[in-house]
Amino acid sequence: MNFQTLYDFSYSLIKFNEDNQDRESLINCLKKSLSMFFKIEEIKIFLMDEYSYLLKNFVKPWENMGQNKEYDEIKKIFDDFLTKKSNFKIKGSVLYFPILQKNKTLGILKLFSREKIKSDNEFFEILPLAIKQISALCMVLKNQEQINTSTKFHKTVRNIAKITETQYELDYILPIMGEMIDSFISEHLIYIFIKNKNKNEYKLIWPSNCSDNKIYEYLEEITPKSTTIIKQEGKTGIFPLIVDSKPYGAIVAYNHFDKITSKEIEYLEEIKSQAQATLSRAKSYIKVLEYATLDALTGYNNRHQFEKRLRETTASAKRKNQPLCCIMSDIDFFKKVNDTYGHAVGDCVLKTVAKTIKKELRESDIPSRYGGEEFIFLLPQTTPDEALIVAQRLRKAVENKKINIEEYKIPNTKEISVTISIGVSVYNKNDKLSETLYKNADSALYEAKESGRNRVVLYKN
Ligand code: GH3
Ligand code: MG
Ligand code: MG
Repeated sequence: MNFQTLYDFSYSLIKFNEDNQDRESLINCLKKSLSMFFKIEEIKIFLMDEYSYLLKNFVKPWENMGQNKEYDEIKKIFDDFLTKKSNFKIKGSVLYFPILQKNKTLGILKLFSREKIKSDNEFFEILPLAIKQISALCMVLKNQEQINTSTKFHKTVRNIAKITETQYELDYILPIMGEMIDSFISEHLIYIFIKNKNKNEYKLIWPSNCSDNKIYEYLEEITPKSTTIIKQEGKTGIFPLIVDSKPYGAIVAYNHFDKITSKEIEYLEEIKSQAQATLSRAKSYIKVLEYATLDALTGYNNRHQFEKRLRETTASAKRKNQPLCCIMSDIDFFKKVNDTYGHAVGDCVLKTVAKTIKKELRESDIPSRYGGEEFIFLLPQTTPDEALIVAQRLRKAVENKKINIEEYKIPNTKEISVTISIGVSVYNKNDKLSETLYKNADSALYEAKESGRNRVVLYKN
């Protein structure tokens, strides 16, 4: 073989390593470098999963490979490599060779060529070297991913602890936890359930749907003394949330094909403890907050107080025959802010938006935090025309506000901005229910979102 070919081949692989990329680009890089020797149609790598003892597609590890012909064939050849009968196998236009780590067979590479593969191909002169280099790249990627998972895990635990500094409403805390856990246990479905106070029934809190009825059956097994319960040959893990010595709910990790690894169990148990502590703290705060009227993060009225003020203002408008409008706002793509910069920045954005809007209101206007990032404003003695002007002013003020997030030390980002969508509704004294006022604002808000966001829509009967 000429030296140049050998050099080019090795160099292209070393180059990949320096760029530190992902699994799919490794396959693409191999396609390129191996095309010096073959007319490549496709390349697949399969690695032995140490927990399920199944070969898994390197690029799509979640893919179910069981019970198919291709799998049986690969497995057979893999077993031959294991027993060191050979270090490659040609089947017409397909070539297989092992992926090794310290001489241990960890996987197999399958190369589909567009023509019959000949055993006098130059490639076989460098096969041992190629195997070593390609194997090393696979391992580097795997290790890098493990480090990333571990970093994400620590961030998640920290974030969960952080949420309770500002948030005490479990309706918000739990879905946020679900999102966070889900983002790093990516190969399992994550569910969060809460137990009904009086009955032994569990309600799904996150995500919106769980179609596996078995999971509900498992939840019934939870007692105040329960620790982690592993079911379905290790594919389902139930992590009971025991708060103040009572079953409060559970985090469930489920994967149809895979066992939960012991590392993941360790991670989830740690998160569960963190979540229990957070919930226990939140529960005692809730008692306090039931008597409070203001939302801790924004200083606006809380939801409970809002409902009270709504009844008062609508009654007064009716009695005095005065106009009354309602403005409902929701931050656009707020989830993305949390996902990109973390929940601490999300909270800072919420706080800043609340403050920015407050500056634009009159003394007599009543601001409340309705939900996570939804605010609601009651504007007494305000006509629809005036309310629309106010709404536009709020929208612009938020759009123009540069939110300083320097203290969160996000690389290359000192400030960010967000927009809000707004729905406006007008009080009609013939409405039987005071709720109609904000329900109408809510549907106008929905329309503002649907029609492109960062805009104001007036509810029309
Ligand atoms: P849309 O434009 O449709 O409103 O998109 P969105 O991403 O804002 O969607 P949605 O309103 O459904 O999402 C609200 C998100 O707000 C979900 C939740 O993670 C987050 N959130 C709710 N409460 C809080 C909070 O107190 N702090 C932080 N940081 N995030 C919160
Ligand atoms: Mg939103
Ligand atoms: Mg929202």
